[in-house]
Amino acid sequence: MRTLLVEDDEMIGRSLRQALEGAGWSVDWVRDGGLAQSALDDGGYACVLLDLGLPERDGTDVLRRARARGDVTPIVVLTARGGLEDRIDALDLGADDYLQKPFAFRELTARMRAVVRRRDGAAQSLIGTPALQLDLGTREVLVAGAREALTAREFALLHALLERPGAILSREQLEHRIYGWGEEVSSNAVDVLIYGMRRKLGPDAIRNVRGLGWRVAAA
Ligand code: CA
Repeated sequence: MRTLLVEDDEMIGRSLRQALEGAGWSVDWVRDGGLAQSALDDGGYACVLLDLGLPERDGTDVLRRARARGDVTPIVVLTARGGLEDRIDALDLGADDYLQKPFAFRELTARMRAVVRRRDGAAQSLIGTPALQLDLGTREVLVAGAREALTAREFALLHALLERPGAILSREQLEHRIYGWGEEVSSNAVDVLIYGMRRKLGPDAIRNVRGLGWRVAAA
Protein backbone atom coordinates (compact mmCIF):
# COMPACT_ATOMS: atom_id res chain seq x y z
CA MET A 1 0.00 0.00 0.00
CA ARG A 2 1.03 3.55 -0.59
CA THR A 3 1.63 6.09 2.15
CA LEU A 4 2.43 9.79 2.06
CA LEU A 5 5.07 10.73 4.60
CA VAL A 6 5.11 14.46 5.45
CA GLU A 7 8.22 15.19 7.53
CA ASP A 8 10.73 18.06 7.28
CA ASP A 9 13.36 16.48 9.53
CA GLU A 10 15.81 14.72 7.19
CA MET A 11 16.98 12.16 9.71
CA ILE A 12 13.54 11.16 10.96
CA GLY A 13 12.17 11.17 7.41
CA ARG A 14 14.94 8.99 6.05
CA SER A 15 14.76 6.41 8.81
CA LEU A 16 10.95 6.30 8.69
CA ARG A 17 10.93 5.83 4.92
CA GLN A 18 13.46 3.04 5.16
CA ALA A 19 11.58 1.26 7.94
CA LEU A 20 8.21 1.64 6.21
CA GLU A 21 9.60 0.28 2.94
CA GLY A 22 11.02 -2.63 4.89
CA ALA A 23 7.51 -3.23 6.26
CA GLY A 24 6.12 -3.40 2.72
CA TRP A 25 4.76 0.14 2.24
CA SER A 26 5.41 2.27 -0.84
CA VAL A 27 6.44 5.65 0.53
CA ASP A 28 6.18 9.12 -1.04
CA TRP A 29 8.10 11.52 1.16
CA VAL A 30 7.53 15.30 1.08
CA ARG A 31 9.23 17.85 3.31
CA ASP A 32 6.85 20.80 3.38
CA GLY A 33 3.16 21.56 3.76
CA GLY A 34 2.71 22.94 0.25
CA LEU A 35 3.95 19.73 -1.39
CA ALA A 36 1.89 17.69 1.08
CA GLN A 37 -1.19 19.57 -0.10
CA SER A 38 -0.50 18.84 -3.80
CA ALA A 39 0.30 15.19 -3.11
CA LEU A 40 -2.97 14.80 -1.19
CA ASP A 41 -4.84 16.45 -4.08
CA ASP A 42 -3.44 13.73 -6.37
CA GLY A 43 -4.80 11.10 -3.97
CA GLY A 44 -4.28 7.35 -4.03
CA TYR A 45 -2.87 6.99 -0.52
CA ALA A 46 -3.98 4.30 1.90
CA CYS A 47 -2.69 6.42 4.76
CA VAL A 48 -0.88 9.73 5.45
CA LEU A 49 1.71 10.36 8.17
CA LEU A 50 1.68 14.07 8.95
CA ASP A 51 4.15 16.07 10.98
CA LEU A 52 2.65 19.34 12.31
CA GLY A 53 5.64 21.70 12.40
CA LEU A 54 6.40 22.15 8.68
CA PRO A 55 7.83 24.81 6.35
CA GLU A 56 5.49 26.56 3.85
CA ARG A 57 2.28 25.46 5.48
CA ASP A 58 1.65 24.05 8.94
CA GLY A 59 0.47 20.45 9.27
CA THR A 60 -2.75 21.54 10.97
CA ASP A 61 -3.50 23.70 7.93
CA VAL A 62 -2.86 20.76 5.57
CA LEU A 63 -5.20 18.64 7.69
CA ARG A 64 -7.91 21.29 7.86
CA ARG A 65 -7.87 21.85 4.09
CA ALA A 66 -7.90 18.14 3.27
CA ARG A 67 -10.99 17.56 5.42
CA ALA A 68 -12.67 20.73 4.12
CA ARG A 69 -12.31 19.29 0.60
CA GLY A 70 -14.00 16.08 1.73
CA ASP A 71 -10.78 14.04 1.57
CA VAL A 72 -11.28 11.02 3.84
CA THR A 73 -7.77 9.54 3.52
CA PRO A 74 -6.72 8.26 6.97
CA ILE A 75 -4.25 10.70 8.53
CA VAL A 76 -1.98 9.87 11.47
CA VAL A 77 -0.39 12.95 13.02
CA LEU A 78 3.22 12.49 14.17
CA THR A 79 4.56 15.32 16.21
CA ALA A 80 6.75 16.48 19.02
CA ARG A 81 3.96 18.82 20.15
CA GLY A 82 2.67 16.63 22.88
CA GLY A 83 0.39 18.97 24.79
CA LEU A 84 -3.18 17.94 25.51
CA GLU A 85 -4.53 20.92 23.53
CA ASP A 86 -2.42 19.97 20.48
CA ARG A 87 -3.71 16.40 20.56
CA ILE A 88 -7.31 17.53 20.91
CA ASP A 89 -6.90 20.11 18.12
CA ALA A 90 -5.45 17.53 15.72
CA LEU A 91 -8.23 15.03 16.41
CA ASP A 92 -10.92 17.73 16.17
CA LEU A 93 -9.51 18.85 12.82
CA GLY A 94 -10.00 15.33 11.47
CA ALA A 95 -6.84 13.37 12.26
CA ASP A 96 -7.62 9.66 12.62
CA ASP A 97 -4.89 9.10 15.14
CA TYR A 98 -2.04 10.85 16.88
CA LEU A 99 1.44 9.70 17.90
CA GLN A 100 3.86 11.73 19.91
CA LYS A 101 7.56 11.59 18.98
CA PRO A 102 9.53 9.59 19.84
CA PHE A 103 7.41 6.50 19.23
CA ALA A 104 8.05 2.82 18.65
CA PHE A 105 7.99 1.94 14.96
CA ARG A 106 5.88 -1.15 15.60
CA GLU A 107 3.23 0.96 17.26
CA LEU A 108 3.18 3.30 14.26
CA THR A 109 2.62 0.48 11.75
CA ALA A 110 -0.06 -1.09 13.98
CA ARG A 111 -1.87 2.28 14.11
CA MET A 112 -1.51 2.66 10.33
CA ARG A 113 -3.12 -0.74 9.80
CA ALA A 114 -5.90 0.18 12.23
CA VAL A 115 -6.81 3.46 10.52
CA VAL A 116 -6.77 1.78 7.09
CA ARG A 117 -9.11 -0.94 8.42
CA ARG A 118 -11.46 1.64 9.90
CA ARG A 119 -11.57 3.55 6.62
CA ASP A 120 -12.43 0.30 4.87
CA GLY A 121 -15.38 0.04 7.26
CA ALA A 122 -14.29 -3.34 8.49
CA ALA A 123 -14.90 -4.01 12.18
CA GLN A 124 -12.70 -7.01 11.66
CA SER A 125 -9.76 -7.04 9.40
CA LEU A 126 -11.40 -8.77 6.41
CA ILE A 127 -12.52 -6.94 3.27
CA GLY A 128 -13.67 -8.31 -0.09
CA THR A 129 -16.31 -10.70 -1.35
CA PRO A 130 -17.42 -14.14 -0.10
CA ALA A 131 -15.23 -15.72 -2.79
CA LEU A 132 -12.17 -13.55 -2.27
CA GLN A 133 -11.25 -11.88 1.00
CA LEU A 134 -8.25 -9.92 2.09
CA ASP A 135 -7.05 -9.99 5.68
CA LEU A 136 -5.65 -6.51 6.38
CA GLY A 137 -4.12 -7.66 9.64
CA THR A 138 -2.08 -10.57 8.37
CA ARG A 139 -1.87 -9.39 4.73
CA GLU A 140 -3.08 -12.76 3.49
CA VAL A 141 -5.74 -13.54 0.93
CA LEU A 142 -8.48 -16.08 1.66
CA VAL A 143 -9.55 -17.95 -1.42
CA ALA A 144 -11.89 -20.94 -1.21
CA GLY A 145 -11.21 -21.16 2.52
CA ALA A 146 -7.44 -21.33 2.14
CA ARG A 147 -5.02 -18.60 3.22
CA GLU A 148 -2.24 -17.51 0.89
CA ALA A 149 0.61 -15.16 1.74
CA LEU A 150 1.06 -12.11 -0.49
CA THR A 151 3.98 -9.93 -1.46
CA ALA A 152 3.69 -6.22 -0.63
CA ARG A 153 2.73 -5.42 -4.22
CA GLU A 154 0.23 -8.24 -4.53
CA PHE A 155 -1.35 -6.99 -1.31
CA ALA A 156 -1.55 -3.40 -2.61
CA LEU A 157 -3.11 -4.63 -5.87
CA LEU A 158 -5.77 -6.73 -4.15
CA HIS A 159 -6.46 -4.03 -1.59
CA ALA A 160 -7.20 -1.55 -4.39
CA LEU A 161 -9.48 -4.01 -6.23
CA LEU A 162 -11.30 -5.34 -3.16
CA GLU A 163 -12.14 -1.96 -1.66
CA ARG A 164 -14.92 -1.71 -4.21
CA PRO A 165 -15.58 -5.15 -5.69
CA GLY A 166 -16.99 -4.86 -9.19
CA ALA A 167 -15.46 -1.43 -9.89
CA ILE A 168 -13.02 -1.27 -12.80
CA LEU A 169 -9.58 0.16 -12.08
CA SER A 170 -7.38 1.34 -14.94
CA ARG A 171 -3.71 0.50 -15.33
CA GLU A 172 -2.87 4.05 -14.26
CA GLN A 173 -5.04 3.83 -11.15
CA LEU A 174 -3.47 0.52 -10.16
CA GLU A 175 0.08 1.76 -10.77
CA HIS A 176 -0.75 4.81 -8.66
CA ARG A 177 -1.86 2.59 -5.78
CA ILE A 178 0.99 0.09 -5.97
CA TYR A 179 4.13 2.07 -6.72
CA GLY A 180 5.73 5.12 -5.09
CA TRP A 181 7.20 8.13 -6.87
CA GLY A 182 10.39 7.58 -8.73
CA GLU A 183 9.96 3.83 -8.71
CA GLU A 184 10.83 2.26 -12.04
CA VAL A 185 7.56 0.82 -13.32
CA SER A 186 7.87 -1.20 -16.51
CA SER A 187 4.98 -0.89 -18.97
CA ASN A 188 3.83 -4.45 -18.28
CA ALA A 189 4.41 -4.44 -14.49
CA VAL A 190 0.69 -4.61 -13.67
CA ASP A 191 0.15 -7.43 -16.19
CA VAL A 192 2.98 -9.45 -14.69
CA LEU A 193 1.59 -8.92 -11.19
CA ILE A 194 -1.92 -9.96 -12.24
CA TYR A 195 -0.58 -12.99 -14.10
CA GLY A 196 1.08 -14.11 -10.87
CA MET A 197 -2.07 -13.43 -8.85
CA ARG A 198 -4.18 -15.56 -11.19
CA ARG A 199 -1.82 -18.46 -10.67
CA LYS A 200 -2.36 -18.05 -6.95
CA LEU A 201 -6.08 -17.31 -6.92
CA GLY A 202 -7.43 -19.02 -10.02
CA PRO A 203 -7.84 -17.72 -13.57
CA ASP A 204 -11.13 -15.86 -12.98
CA ALA A 205 -10.31 -14.09 -9.71
CA ILE A 206 -9.24 -10.88 -11.48
CA ARG A 207 -10.99 -10.11 -14.75
CA ASN A 208 -9.69 -7.94 -17.52
CA VAL A 209 -12.19 -5.50 -19.01
CA ARG A 210 -10.77 -4.85 -22.45
CA GLY A 211 -9.42 -1.36 -22.92
CA LEU A 212 -10.56 -0.22 -19.46
CA GLY A 213 -8.72 -2.16 -16.79
CA TRP A 214 -9.37 -4.87 -14.23
CA ARG A 215 -11.91 -5.74 -11.60
CA VAL A 216 -12.94 -8.54 -9.26
CA ALA A 217 -16.47 -9.94 -9.42
CA ALA A 218 -18.81 -8.13 -7.01
CA ALA A 219 -20.08 -11.33 -5.39
CA1 CA B 1 8.80 19.19 11.87
